[in-house]
Amino acid sequence: MPAALLGTAVALAAAVSGAQPAIAEPSSAPQTADKPECSIGLSCRFIPAAYAQTDPSKPAAYGNYHKADRPRDGDDIRYIVIHDTEERYDRAIARFQDPHARVSTHYLIRSSDGEITQLVHTKDIAHQAGNYWFNMHSIGIEHEGVLADGAHWYTEAMYQSSARLVRYLAARYHIPLDREHILGHEEIPGTTPAGVAAMHYDPGPYWDWAHYFDLLGAPLRGASSDGVALLAAHFADPPVLTIAPRFAKNAEPLRSCTTQGCTDLPAQGSNVIYLRTEPRADAPLVGDPALHPDGSPGTTWVADWSARAVAGQSFVVAARRGKWTAIWFGGRLAWLESRAGAPGYGPLVTPRPGRSAIPVYGTAYPEADAYPATVPVTTVVPLQYTIPAGQLYFGVEPHRSDYYYAEFDGGTMPGYHTLVLGDRRFVEISFNHRHAFVDAADVVIVR
Ligand SMILES: [Zn+2]
Repeated sequence: MPAALLGTAVALAAAVSGAQPAIAEPSSAPQTADKPECSIGLSCRFIPAAYAQTDPSKPAAYGNYHKADRPRDGDDIRYIVIHDTEERYDRAIARFQDPHARVSTHYLIRSSDGEITQLVHTKDIAHQAGNYWFNMHSIGIEHEGVLADGAHWYTEAMYQSSARLVRYLAARYHIPLDREHILGHEEIPGTTPAGVAAMHYDPGPYWDWAHYFDLLGAPLRGASSDGVALLAAHFADPPVLTIAPRFAKNAEPLRSCTTQGCTDLPAQGSNVIYLRTEPRADAPLVGDPALHPDGSPGTTWVADWSARAVAGQSFVVAARRGKWTAIWFGGRLAWLESRAGAPGYGPLVTPRPGRSAIPVYGTAYPEADAYPATVPVTTVVPLQYTIPAGQLYFGVEPHRSDYYYAEFDGGTMPGYHTLVLGDRRFVEISFNHRHAFVDAADVVIVR
């Protein structure tokens, strides 16, 4: 969903309470000569998002995206971020055409028939992920829908259209078709401790990742759309567990909450696996210091991602007890029923020997010395998490630190678009419900 749409817990509550936006009449948005970047056979059109200043006295006050020249300018495209709009298709298009919104997306897909509207060229940086480092390196795809309603909006036509678009983009930009690179907005970390709680949680529990990856031609390990989940017959050591719920039968409890109270959402298939503090079904859900700073447990509120692992995510197994498996999750042990996972593989990341705990970050920007005098320094801030010695996390990818600086350019490309490259290196990990970064100097990669 647009980054400015649901910035606070109150707004989240309104969004999940069923308070849907009023349905607008279809807008007669202007067509342009721009050709959409789309795979042949898809119904695509291009309607440009706004690119305009909102306060002429403030150079930085403009919407709704940065002009760039990806990947030729060195700012490469590594991810595709999946969203839902929380509003109707035409209202979303109108929002992206208002520069005061300061949000955008590369693509928007209609629920009823899968029609695609492109709003920002893929070479440009859309403001969509709520984390500028991920904006720099991703393409955003919005889906018309209200996440708490789930399958009512996430139609087969939409899944098929979206998957064909993703296959086209992945082939063009060499993006791996795996869950480490085809991400939900809900998997993007906050950039500061204060920002973590406000990060969005779309497309949410009712997005069928297993079916989506079947359509991408890259089935998720241990899961398929016909509901077959594999038992973990053999594990490497130390083992990786890939979350693999049986979507159609996995009607986990979820609630919609407002200041007036909570109501149960109607049962439907979900991608949710709940994580508990102990290996028993009545143990409390694990909490998260951003959403529950008082140390209280997680909840089944649809906006509370504290205790939710999602289909296709991978974590490192820490212990087993009967039918329960413990994984390292957000700096602590978290238990799930073993049948919810399948064996995975990949590099494992752990604190370097001698370190009692290491910091966790939400961005991979360069060290201050790397910035030229003309570019303001953007600092990497530790989040409210640490990784204690001995814990292991699934390694996604190593990154050289970078930062793309842009200012409003009136439609041309003058020299004040700068890619800053640092010497500092980070390793991206599957950390909790979201990805995160650790400093490469703080860790060793086990395999
Ligand atoms: Zn979103």
